[in-house]
Amino acid sequence: MARTEELIREVETYSARNYNPLPVVIERGEGVWVYDVEGRRYLDMLSAYSALNQGHRHPKIIQALLDQASKVTLTSRAFHNETMGPFLRQLCELTGYGKALPMNTGAEAVETAIKAARKWGLIRKGVPENQGEIIVCENNFHGRTVTIVSFSSEEQYRYGFGPFTPGFVLVPFGDAAALEQAITPNTIAVLAEPIQGEGGVLVPPQGYLAAMRELTKKHNVLMMLDEIQTGLGRTGRLFAYEYEEAKPDVLILGKALGGGVYPVSAVLASEEVLGVFGPGDHGSTFGGNPLGAAVAKAALEVLLEEDLPARAQELGSYFKGRLHALDSPYIREIRGKGLLIGVEIKPEYGSARPFCERLMREGLLCKETHDQTIRFAPPLVITKEELDWALERIEGVLGA
Ligand SMILES: *Cc1c(COP(=O)(O)O)cnc(C)c1O
Repeated sequence: MARTEELIREVETYSARNYNPLPVVIERGEGVWVYDVEGRRYLDMLSAYSALNQGHRHPKIIQALLDQASKVTLTSRAFHNETMGPFLRQLCELTGYGKALPMNTGAEAVETAIKAARKWGLIRKGVPENQGEIIVCENNFHGRTVTIVSFSSEEQYRYGFGPFTPGFVLVPFGDAAALEQAITPNTIAVLAEPIQGEGGVLVPPQGYLAAMRELTKKHNVLMMLDEIQTGLGRTGRLFAYEYEEAKPDVLILGKALGGGVYPVSAVLASEEVLGVFGPGDHGSTFGGNPLGAAVAKAALEVLLEEDLPARAQELGSYFKGRLHALDSPYIREIRGKGLLIGVEIKPEYGSARPFCERLMREGLLCKETHDQTIRFAPPLVITKEELDWALERIEGVLGA
């Protein structure tokens, strides 16, 4: 314990306190398991908010990283590199989009999509300069930059960080009628998550995404889906929009695109949309770098070769079934799709945090989101046996 406490004290001394982690210090990870500095083993039920869909240190992804690291790691976009083309071709062929723009973090990809939409609004739709409006949903989470928190409905995400970027209109999530009402001649885009992960694993009513698709088409508005957390197999399909055949004009990816190894994000769209960028309009020193591209290409191959979306679908249904069968007195609601599962604790039993702490003592790493909800999102490479191991412990903590 001494070493754990020492390392935590060091972080508390030198790190800004912008997180409130559970008191575990991880030393090593492999597959669905992580080991702390005391040698204890835990099953990772958070997967770095779905960045670890392929599991910790997937051998194929690590091999791609090592191979590329022994050749060249960074060129900047001032020059071409050998790996970006094959990666983007694979990504576009897989998703059916004509163009991709590679970035690093999720927030950067969201910012990129916003910039693309604004310029598209000006030069393609003919909305007057600086008048374009983007409709967003209450309870959204799209990252932490000033522009992104400008349209958050979460007071804590905004407090103290103004002045904010204008041009965003909030509507209730899941309400297609409210969405249509908010559309004006200056609306250029709708930006939404297919399932709100950080918001507490909130699943919109069936038909919402299809209605969004129809309304945006009808009003010549771009539909932009942030699948940074829901995408790449997590919800039981390659992308969550597939449940409603609501393919967006702009698809934003991150997290698992880098296989839990390296930050890689991307914006996917048509030439009509991403073609608004000319040289010098937008960029990133590290975006599309050879190391990230090699890693992301391997990360995509792992998803396909191991059929991880189907695994998430099958094991997610099983997981939810066992949670329902538990008939827990503490649980108010079980939500989610695939292996993105939210368990909301009844307020009379306090917040979800003490449950996460108890699960940690049982060897499961979970994190509360929005106080009342435990998010269960293990790596998609989890086996049925490993999931059963986790469920026994969850049943111990959440059972009567
Ligand atoms: C995590 C997340 C982001 C932000 O990604 P970062 O890599 O942390 O910047 C944006 N949107 C959604 C839906 C996310 O889950």
